Amino acid sequence: MRYISTRGTAPALSFEEAMLTGLARDGGLYVPETIPTLTHQEIAALAGKSYEEVAFAVMRPFIGDTFTDEVFRALIDEAYAVIGHTARAPMVQLAPNHFLLELFHGPTLAFKDFAMQLIGQMFQTALGRKGSRVTIVGATSGDTGSAAIEAFKGLDNVDVFILFPHGRVSEVQRRQMTTPVESNVHALALEGDFDDCQARLKDMFNDFEFRDGVKLAGVNSINWGRVLAQVVYYFTSAVSLGAPDRKVSFTVPTGNFGDIFAGYVAKRMGLPIDRLIVATNQNDILDRCLKGQGYHKGPTHPSISPSMDIQVSSNFERALFDAYDRDALAVVQQMAELAEGGFDVSQGAMESLREHYDSGRATEEETMQTITHMLEATGELLCPHSAVGVKVAEEMRDAAVPMITLATAHPAKFPDAVEKATGIRPDLPPRMRDLFDRDERVTRLPNDLEALKAHIKGNLSA
Ligand SMILES: *Cc1c(COP(=O)(O)O)cnc(C)c1O
Repeated sequence: MRYISTRGTAPALSFEEAMLTGLARDGGLYVPETIPTLTHQEIAALAGKSYEEVAFAVMRPFIGDTFTDEVFRALIDEAYAVIGHTARAPMVQLAPNHFLLELFHGPTLAFKDFAMQLIGQMFQTALGRKGSRVTIVGATSGDTGSAAIEAFKGLDNVDVFILFPHGRVSEVQRRQMTTPVESNVHALALEGDFDDCQARLKDMFNDFEFRDGVKLAGVNSINWGRVLAQVVYYFTSAVSLGAPDRKVSFTVPTGNFGDIFAGYVAKRMGLPIDRLIVATNQNDILDRCLKGQGYHKGPTHPSISPSMDIQVSSNFERALFDAYDRDALAVVQQMAELAEGGFDVSQGAMESLREHYDSGRATEEETMQTITHMLEATGELLCPHSAVGVKVAEEMRDAAVPMITLATAHPAKFPDAVEKATGIRPDLPPRMRDLFDRDERVTRLPNDLEALKAHIKGNLSA
């Protein structure tokens, strides 16, 4: 299994190389050369299996000879033992034929733990046997950073630096990043918004002298290893509702397009998915694009679902690459236009995107109303991101097809919005109740590439 770049000029890599690298050297994103498929019988055989067994069956065809079966099984078991629910990704029912997939039982209470915990295990094993070390730098709107820190803290061969937008993450999110005591963890508050954090991260990757000097590795959702880990819960949930003999649909609260793209990969692997619905908040650039209005950047408006406050949705490049029949030159052209403000999608590519994705948006008010209403109607307390998904799903779903909405974070991660909507301040799970008493450690930095590079070089732990 080889991985190729969406921009066509970086060398093809193995799974191990693509995972350890993150962003391709031509600025593109790695995708598998071909997507392996599972037969109807193979998918049917996943019924009743544990999350870990399904994870092995779904991911195994993608990893080539990076790990032996025995090692890969052990890494999966280790990664998911930290999830505080024996089902790992349990489902609850919200309405007739509408289900909520709870992906928030991991150590940082958001779905990103599923990918990050596994990546942490895979990095440690791959680097350990090579005797090398890397510097992980990640940009976060809140949840990626805490999940990365939780997965990599204390590992011998890794330093982890996380850039988050100063003043724009929730207090729980910030504390999850600033309170770990391990010396290889470095939380950086950047004076800018999330798009600035992502832009500086890309700048560092495109500065080859720096990149090679500190052995930069990326674990943002552009990392193929992360997308792959997220494919698994589309299978576990669909199969538990009767797939492959019955089609299901998914609604996914979306920002960087990583989670929904994993759903598309599941579909291409053979999982019978009827609709994949992209749900956005008021920062609705993806919804507008999928409705045929082109992809044109505007200002980011801070919302109560901050992990979806985005203008540049990185993984959308992977969707475009396929929509343009893997024409890397078309992608290069569009990304150059994006740097100037935006691009229009050709008619053919639009048709291809529409074949796989629908979209909808929720305003701040609709999100709050959904949280209030769902508590009354079902007893479920939703985080604002999940509420965006539930609102869009209720509006767009076909009553005859089971709809699975992804609950991407625990309500206690966003207690202010939830309390405002319901009068209830959700409690943190017992294992993290002392979060507000722990000391914080963070460095505030200007939105400046040179300052960032100097800080990182000067603070490596080995
Ligand atoms: C990251 C995140 C999202 C968006 O996921 P993408 O893969 O970036 O589209 C949605 N909700 C929560 C809670 C998140 O942390």
